[in-house]
Amino acid sequence: MTGSVLFSDIPVVSADETGVVTCQPHTWVAVRDGRIAAVSPTEAVARAALGREPDQVVNGQNRLLLPALANTHNHMAMTLLRNAADDLELHRWLFDVIFPREARLTSALVAAGSRLALAEMIRSGTGLSADMYYDHEETAQAALEAGFRLNLSVDAKREGPDGQPHPDPELLARSMRLLGQHPSGLLRVSLLVHSVYLYTEALYPELATMARQLDCPVQVHIAETQKEVTDCLARYNRRPAAQLARFGFFQTPTLAAHCVHLDDQERSVLASPQVLVAHCPASNLKLGSGLADVPALLQAGARVGIGTDGPASNNNLDLYRDMRLASFLAKGVRQDAALLPAPEILAMTTWQGARALGFADSGRIAPGWQADLQVVRTDSPGLTPLGNPVSALVYSASGSDVESLMVAGRWLMEKRELKTLDEEKIRFEALAATRALA
Ligand SMILES: [Zn+2]
Repeated sequence: MTGSVLFSDIPVVSADETGVVTCQPHTWVAVRDGRIAAVSPTEAVARAALGREPDQVVNGQNRLLLPALANTHNHMAMTLLRNAADDLELHRWLFDVIFPREARLTSALVAAGSRLALAEMIRSGTGLSADMYYDHEETAQAALEAGFRLNLSVDAKREGPDGQPHPDPELLARSMRLLGQHPSGLLRVSLLVHSVYLYTEALYPELATMARQLDCPVQVHIAETQKEVTDCLARYNRRPAAQLARFGFFQTPTLAAHCVHLDDQERSVLASPQVLVAHCPASNLKLGSGLADVPALLQAGARVGIGTDGPASNNNLDLYRDMRLASFLAKGVRQDAALLPAPEILAMTTWQGARALGFADSGRIAPGWQADLQVVRTDSPGLTPLGNPVSALVYSASGSDVESLMVAGRWLMEKRELKTLDEEKIRFEALAATRALA
């Protein structure tokens, strides 16, 4: 059980019921039993919703309150490979540097890297994330310990008697039951489908059928590089998103990472309400992969969130940097300063991202919603004068401006101190793990 908290006279940045992000000054927000009990311009109304004296009052002077951010594409344990291989294009980076190191991974090393990622995300205002990696049970345990919301993908395939990998519905069903329905409510499970290029042709329709039969969401990389598209055309005579649809995907909720190289037909495939495109601008630029045309995706009717991608290709997990970059890139490339304005970017990284991760009642500050909240300090030189608070958050702030973060009403960081994780121990173990991989 978590204590009750009253945020007192604080500007609240949140999407309204139509999904539009605005800032409401001078607001009182009451949190009780892990949820938002009241949001009111009147102190007495917020206090009345608590029914008793709050356990804690947070003074809103020089502060902003907004939902915890949702990172829609990540490989958390790749923190261990941060700054280990840079200035290489994706295929050389992946096959020559990353895969050989990952071959040495153990579940203990994955746990160490995941805990480091959780600490970094909590410190920079992220309270929810997707994860696509190995040893998902260790990662789930790390998220539960941290009190962090995680949508983790499960590598549910096993070698059959024919020596070929086949779907393992028992493993997936077990993970969906034990983790996806964990009483904490912090975990969601999806099926890991790495990409259209890594598996045998026969495996894809089997995986799509399993996802459909178990009603399991999917995490997949799509059209990250031109090479992926060229190879896919050569192999299947279809582009990646079109080919994945042909295999039977996009029938269950899907986190589609990157989507850099698309044609109009693929954009209409991805414009399904089941799909969220996880736009990863920093990773796409750093690996020289190209640039997703987010305005075209939005115009086609697709939903878009923002992801950091793994910390080996970003090289950090501060979603504030990616929000700013996503907005600036769209404006600059299209030569249109009106594109991807700050409220739209914040909508992507709060309620839209949270919903796509499977947490439909997170990402807004409204009565009944999850108390997944962050407090940003605004009295630093870089946020003075504050001006429009929504612009300030996307264009001027960074993760280090986040003072406190709560998930389900529990402080994960309070006044810059991590409350659920031992940061010194995590850094020590992560450095040891990095040496083991090198
Ligand atoms: Zn990725």
